[in-house]
Amino acid sequence: MYDFLIVGCGFAGAVLAERLAVEGKKILIVDKRDHIAGNAYDYYNEDGILIHKYGPHIFHTNSEDVFRYLSRFTEWRPYEHRVLGSVDGLLVPIPINLTTINELYGKNLTSDEVTSFLASKAEKRNPILTSEDVVLNAVGKELYEKFFKGYTKKQWDLDPSELDASVTARVPTRTNKDDRYFTDNFQAMPKNGYTEMFKKMLSHKNISIMLQTDYKDIIDVIPFRTMIYTGPIDSYFDYCYGKLPYRSIDFKFETFNQEIYQETGTINYPTSNLYTRITEFKYLTGQKNPKTTIVYEYPTADGDPYYPIPRKQNQDVYNQYKKLSEEHSNVYFTGRLATYKYYNMDQVVAQSLALYRKIKNQEIYVN
Ligand code: FAD
Ligand code: UDP
Repeated sequence: MYDFLIVGCGFAGAVLAERLAVEGKKILIVDKRDHIAGNAYDYYNEDGILIHKYGPHIFHTNSEDVFRYLSRFTEWRPYEHRVLGSVDGLLVPIPINLTTINELYGKNLTSDEVTSFLASKAEKRNPILTSEDVVLNAVGKELYEKFFKGYTKKQWDLDPSELDASVTARVPTRTNKDDRYFTDNFQAMPKNGYTEMFKKMLSHKNISIMLQTDYKDIIDVIPFRTMIYTGPIDSYFDYCYGKLPYRSIDFKFETFNQEIYQETGTINYPTSNLYTRITEFKYLTGQKNPKTTIVYEYPTADGDPYYPIPRKQNQDVYNQYKKLSEEHSNVYFTGRLATYKYYNMDQVVAQSLALYRKIKNQEIYVN
């Protein structure tokens, strides 16, 4: 008899498995894939390059708690991600910053001057409800069209006006020269990769792992007390309120017989090409190798569910599932797919640590 059956071996499932195992609980964690680490899974390809199977994963957080917690299972390599956008035949920093404006417009503005320049271009929106509002309000139509409209259409197959403000708000405009993609206090990559970190998290005598296993195939034969579910919530309830839309991506990898392929970790293609971006892994991992591997991201409607799509009609459907989930007192739902939230890794870790504390408090109360 297991105390917990945990469905999904990504960040959400692994954090709970680790925390509960240390408390003496017997855990069975299952994943239908043939590996641990969920979408953060990395491995060495046939050319010996460490790559991320489900697209580039860069760790960043403002939460000292999350960073400290994960630091029990890995050392870190400091890494600040930088992204360039291929726009008007130039490669310019994304998010849009002082350098971006100066290079695009052939100017030499100061920070104050660029603030006025953007204010003169901005189309003020009040209230700011959609992803279009966010960008028009900050930089106006021209830059919106160069940087956001086409990229967003490719990524989501939706116009920015059809998406919640939170989506493009992830990439806020700057008036200084800071060209880092993220501004979080902690920015680093697990020194030996994500999969190694997950191995450490899960190497406890109270944790059993079953891979290539859909939980639906074992649920009636393996006894357990409580389930923690981190897969898509609509699938758990057999789509009774309809399918929740998720966006998927086709990843195309290519290896070159040369040290370096491009100028920086990621280059975005907001208007050209069918792919959204190209990432070169060696920037992220710091690996030294005479060869290099890149990944192109081609967004698609079909395939593994990677991105919940933040917009009101989807949230309404999710809320119905959430309400139903509250009636199932021995199943907890956590993670990006089970709570239908566009969460980064650190947010999933924080969410699962919070759920762990809730479970622990409930147990104290019950006992
Ligand atoms: P997942 O990692 O998806 O784990 C869920 C697991 O459940 C999966 O392994 C799945 O196989 C399993 N499962 C589902 N159904 C079943 C079933 N029926 N039976 C058994 N197992 C099942 N975050 C960042 O912080 N930085 C980044 O740079 C970043 N880049 C990203 C790039 C891409 C292309 C994508 C898609 C995501 C990125 N993320 C990034 C987000 C990050 O991947 C997620 O926040 C995190 O991996 C979510 O963890 P999770 O445990 O909730 O879900
Ligand atoms: N975005 C854009 N142009 C860019 C970068 C981002 O339009 O050059 C928009 C797009 O809608 C994207 C969202 O901002 O989906 C969030 O970007 P982020 O890089 O955070 O996406 P993720 O890494 O999660 O795929």
